[in-house]
Amino acid sequence: MKKFNRVLLKLSGEALAGERKTGFDEDTCIRVAKQVKTLVDEGIEVSIVIGGGNFWRGRSSETIDRTKADQIGMLATVMNCIYVSEIFRYVGMNTKIFTPFSCGSMTELFSKDEALACMRNKGVAFLAGGTGHPYFSTDTATVLRAIELDCDIILMAKEIDGVYDSDPKLNPEAKKYDVISTQELLDKKLGVIDLTAAVLSIDNKMPMLLFGLSEEDSIIKAAQGNSNGTI
Ligand code: UDP
Repeated sequence: MKKFNRVLLKLSGEALAGERKTGFDEDTCIRVAKQVKTLVDEGIEVSIVIGGGNFWRGRSSETIDRTKADQIGMLATVMNCIYVSEIFRYVGMNTKIFTPFSCGSMTELFSKDEALACMRNKGVAFLAGGTGHPYFSTDTATVLRAIELDCDIILMAKEIDGVYDSDPKLNPEAKKYDVISTQELLDKKLGVIDLTAAVLSIDNKMPMLLFGLSEEDSIIKAAQGNSNGTI
């Protein structure tokens, strides 16, 4: 049963890497692809942003210029989208990869109209390359694109199954929130998304659901409104 009509799914780079923490874990990607296929078959429009942390982060290097390091990070997200898009095709879906900068014939330049057309035709729109600018994150790109594409909600798939008042790995008494305002995330410095992304989502009233990727069918449950994650 569908709860949302159009969603933006954010996958972290590490989530794709599985246990190995770097590169790709094919089984994990196939599991994600099959779940997204269920959603698309139900008539939910899906766009996807993928992080780059399984390859590179702008802050990975203290020796090279930050702008150049961030460019490498943005290209890492393009590689991730090309790989995951191919896995989606392998399970029988149509996909398109959009970037905010030209990558020759490998991707298409992002446009709201083209991304919406792709989703309306039961294709999954991969939004690669972040915002196209250094000093930003894929979290910010996620919120920006979700607003631009009039998504109902951002589905943030994480290693952790929700937002806690303290780190559950360190504190067994940590309490999970069912609902928390983005402002409170900032006030309590819970570090779930970065400041720029948080401010953009507050300004534009874009809701987010944070949930654990590893739980069975967690993406399907999230899109159907049956998740035990944190809104
Ligand atoms: N990045 C960027 N601009 C963007 C999006 C990403 O410069 O709009 C770069 C940045 O270097 C970042 C890397 O791409 O560290 C990978 O993105 P992600 O958001 O996954 O990084 P993380 O938040 O894990 O550092």
